[in-house]
Amino acid sequence: MAVRVRIAPSPTGLLHIGTARTALFNWLFARHEGGEFRLRIENTDTSREVAEAVDQIQDSLRWLGLDWDGPHTFQLDRMEDCRQVAERLLADGKAYEDEGAIRFRMPDEGVTAWDDIVRGRIEYPNEKLEDVVIVRSDGRPTYNFASPMEDVWDGITHVIRGDDHIPNTPKQLNIIRAVGAEIPVYAHVPMIFGMDGNKLSKRHGAQAVEEFRTAGYLPETMLNFLALLGWAPDGETTLMSRDELVERFSLERVSPSPSQFDYQKLDWMNGVYLRALPSAEFAHRLLLWLGENGFDWDAERVTRAAPLVQEKIARLDEFPGFAGFFFRDVDPSEADLDGGAPMLTAAEEALIALEPFDAPAIEAALRAAADRLELKPRQAFQPIRVAVTGSKVSPGLFESIELLGRETTLSRLRVAGSSAA
Ligand code: GLU
Repeated sequence: MAVRVRIAPSPTGLLHIGTARTALFNWLFARHEGGEFRLRIENTDTSREVAEAVDQIQDSLRWLGLDWDGPHTFQLDRMEDCRQVAERLLADGKAYEDEGAIRFRMPDEGVTAWDDIVRGRIEYPNEKLEDVVIVRSDGRPTYNFASPMEDVWDGITHVIRGDDHIPNTPKQLNIIRAVGAEIPVYAHVPMIFGMDGNKLSKRHGAQAVEEFRTAGYLPETMLNFLALLGWAPDGETTLMSRDELVERFSLERVSPSPSQFDYQKLDWMNGVYLRALPSAEFAHRLLLWLGENGFDWDAERVTRAAPLVQEKIARLDEFPGFAGFFFRDVDPSEADLDGGAPMLTAAEEALIALEPFDAPAIEAALRAAADRLELKPRQAFQPIRVAVTGSKVSPGLFESIELLGRETTLSRLRVAGSSAA
């Protein structure tokens, strides 16, 4: 039988990184097994907020490349079906009314148990299971009722979800049994913690997929990184493509212990992925990112600046700070110009009629100018860098000057030269 799994996010806001990781495990499992991955929205109303959240969840999943099979479904559409099942359970004596609500009669003796793929055998003594409310007095089915019923109706074979749901599982299992349906296989995946051992929260850094996207991480980085939160193919392999992840993924190798979200490792990994992109592709990603984040910068110039930064940034959002001087005026600080006026004037003279105006010729001309002033290159180039880029840290100076062009370079040298005098 082909497997069928689902992700069932509650549409309460942006897609959280933990839900994205769980979605990824479901998706990898489905694709590895040649089965289906469904998207099910656990909504209890149809407000504008829900509609927005649903759009955002889908955007984030698409950005990560986690395609789902068939149309997404809404829990709210199943309310009537849930109520009918509740009526039947009432009629069969498997549920009872309690102050207007409907409660499911849990078994009192023995244990409810399942073999969890990640956790191994889990047993709950039935005397500890309370008779759970399945329909509230206002007629709305509860999560613990609607969710397993949807699993039944959707033919879900494997429920892969966060291990915070373990206490819900014995309740859901008994409900599925009571309606005479087949019990799915359960796999409860570990929580994600920060490096300090606390549950991941805003304090640690970005939380939503959308925030990581805005910070300039690549989707392939996120996919690779998220896959390793609780899963590893072996003790060593770290960098894996989407296809490799699909090929190697197995629930058996998901660890039961909490995984740690290491933001530094994420930056490192993103740098690796950025550097590995073919340069045209890198430029394309930069343009996409800039467009999404409100930077209306000349595409041709971005494309020409891209190779100057590709080796130097770990996230796309570093580009505006690092290479913004190609696109907007600079405001170098006098302190940074550090009495460089003589060198700035010398640089201006060296470049004013230089031909060709390319990086090797610019380098030779500026080195010669530094020699004439008897300055060491490092000493000489610092004020030039600050004058033309506005910063002490920049892409390669000579390549930057070439791209910036003679006119802008000369005017920046002039302006800075007068304030450094
Ligand atoms: N809405 C629940 C969650 O996001 C779904 C739990 C489940 O998969 O059953 O945690």
